[in-house]
Amino acid sequence: MDHPQDRAETSACATTHDATDGNAANGKVQTGQNAISAHNLQKHYRGEHGQPPKHALKGIDLEIPRGSIFGLLGPNGAGKSTFINILAGLVIKSSGQVSIWGFDIDRNPRQARASIGVVPQELNIDPFFTPAEILELQAGMYGVPKAQRRTADILAAMGLSDKADAYTRTLSGGMRRRLLVAKAMVHAPPILVLDEPTAGVDVELRQQLWDYVRDLHRQGTTIVLTTHYLEEAEELCDQIAIINHGEVAACEPTPQLLSRIDEKILLVRPDSPIEGLAAELSEFQAELKPDGQIAIAYRPSETSVEEILARLRAHAIAIRDLTTVESDLEDIFLQLTRERA
Ligand code: ADP
Ligand code: MG
Repeated sequence: MDHPQDRAETSACATTHDATDGNAANGKVQTGQNAISAHNLQKHYRGEHGQPPKHALKGIDLEIPRGSIFGLLGPNGAGKSTFINILAGLVIKSSGQVSIWGFDIDRNPRQARASIGVVPQELNIDPFFTPAEILELQAGMYGVPKAQRRTADILAAMGLSDKADAYTRTLSGGMRRRLLVAKAMVHAPPILVLDEPTAGVDVELRQQLWDYVRDLHRQGTTIVLTTHYLEEAEELCDQIAIINHGEVAACEPTPQLLSRIDEKILLVRPDSPIEGLAAELSEFQAELKPDGQIAIAYRPSETSVEEILARLRAHAIAIRDLTTVESDLEDIFLQLTRERA
């Protein structure tokens, strides 16, 4: 058993520390309060099927509160699906502890599994069954008695009533995604986990999916979703953990996290093409893009957009159009780890 102090070093989840005075590792954590809690969770893939070995999770500490909509945000390859698949029982962890709804996945695997519904990232659905049959089979697998099955209701909620008896191979990507959500909900688990739910879902269906997820949340379901889009996590989640290279880089309520992301980019399209950037603009980390736009990185806490615009005017650059963009995840990750160092 390693020392709590060592563990505190490896954890970046602020809530863990706040809630437990840094004693996350010594068993004082009230896992009963959390929907999911993970302590020093590690995964080494041995690297079968031509894949190289990989240390995919390097000691994840996470407390996901009951009743939250929790975002697991990270770039591709960060380890999000590995984490989710360990919860789902699809990947075996190498070490560490995980509890789901207070049930340790090693000591109470059945109760742990019954407490969670997972919508996997891949859209694998048996093509020879209809949506209604798939839900019935799934309910049977979870031992839901016939009288308590809600197949028609769940299909209706997911907008799939008219597809209840269609072959699933005839369903679009968006419909398959919704069918997988329906499948994850047949045993009415208190936690719904969605792994990259908007991949391959068009904008309209995405909105519909979020409406349904928000409804479930209002009715008391704890929601966990992974995404590599900051905007998506920002719109939906009340708490966000940033995960990168198998480590938690930050874990905070969304407004707090956003306020720490002190880097934005202003994109300016000049009225007429400019040759090069005046040296005076260099203090803003300005860059002339091949498409003629000027990209100016700035810290909102230090520099206002007004200051930047004034400087552009001073250089007689007339502005046709401007937009601001958030910095990308990799930048945010670097910024947050730099802060901690
Ligand atoms: P994410 O979902 O955040 O994109 P994953 O959990 O899928 O990340 O992957 C994390 C890392 O583990 C990646 O480098 C990936 O290539 C590697 N990985 C995933 N599955 C396997 C596997 N079965 N064998 C070896 N490496 C794997
Ligand atoms: Mg993934």
